[in-house]
Amino acid sequence: MDELVTTVLGPLAPEALGITDGHNHLWIEPVAGADPEAPVLNDEAAIRQELQQYRAAGGGTIVDCQPGGCGRNGRYLAQLSHDSGVHVVACTGFHLRRYYPPHPMLWQMTAEAASDLFVGELLESLYETQDTATPVRAGFLKIAGEASFEQTPRHLLEAAAAACRATGCAIEMHTEKGLAVEAFLEFFLAQQVDPQRLVFCHVDKRPDFGFHKAIAQTGAMLEYDTFYRSKYDPETAVWPLLEKMIAAGLETQIVLATDMAYSHMWQTMGGQPGLAAFVTQIRSRLANMELPAATINNLTGGNIARRLAVPHKKESHS
Ligand SMILES: [Zn+2]
Repeated sequence: MDELVTTVLGPLAPEALGITDGHNHLWIEPVAGADPEAPVLNDEAAIRQELQQYRAAGGGTIVDCQPGGCGRNGRYLAQLSHDSGVHVVACTGFHLRRYYPPHPMLWQMTAEAASDLFVGELLESLYETQDTATPVRAGFLKIAGEASFEQTPRHLLEAAAAACRATGCAIEMHTEKGLAVEAFLEFFLAQQVDPQRLVFCHVDKRPDFGFHKAIAQTGAMLEYDTFYRSKYDPETAVWPLLEKMIAAGLETQIVLATDMAYSHMWQTMGGQPGLAAFVTQIRSRLANMELPAATINNLTGGNIARRLAVPHKKESHS
């Protein structure tokens, strides 16, 4: 059985993903009753154009981190992927509570029911594409940790762990600036989740090398995305941290991303730096650091592609 990544247009060999932004957002519908500050991305023409720019710059794949119920729409993800030639990996799972309307369905469910929902979206279809001619599958679980383990819905953590064990699909976990990663990791290990399936997001907001080294050595992956967030001072935080991690031989445990959920980061919506900056700026800077090509490819695609790949019975569509 081949190890393949499930994209919105079908399974693909991990090597075919190419340059991959490991945590981003391509489509977020407004959610009535949710946090009014929540980001919205629904200008289809602008998003298509920006994806074309990403593709033209050499970008291959985007990992979309908006789970169902808080703005995801798999129909648009598939259409945008088809139109732009950029591979897109969609997710199931759960986000922070504030991105949902009051009384969200997932919060009323048992762990078993939520796990069944996640597994169904990973193996069959996202719920919004179930009745379409071309159902879209999720390729991984995106879940969200609050600032502490205790504040995070335990039944949904259990559901994600069960879905991960059942399918082998990876979990990308939002963290609040890297807080409580140790507690979440301990929980998943106790739940028999393979650390090789885990990715902790936004952890470069906690740029403590000892912490990063310890987490990486367990096999879990670390996602860095503050390159365009000046309040986290990327020149003194994420870039030096990245250099130290590479020097420590931990480059296979890191995935780079830009997490542009807000339209002010999209060029076609009047913002900066735009999706293509992942290639034209971040990847270019890695090249200027005179890192080996294999290291650059790992950080900007290879690592996350291998983590997203799962044993697959169906043929690759590439
Ligand atoms: Zn995000």
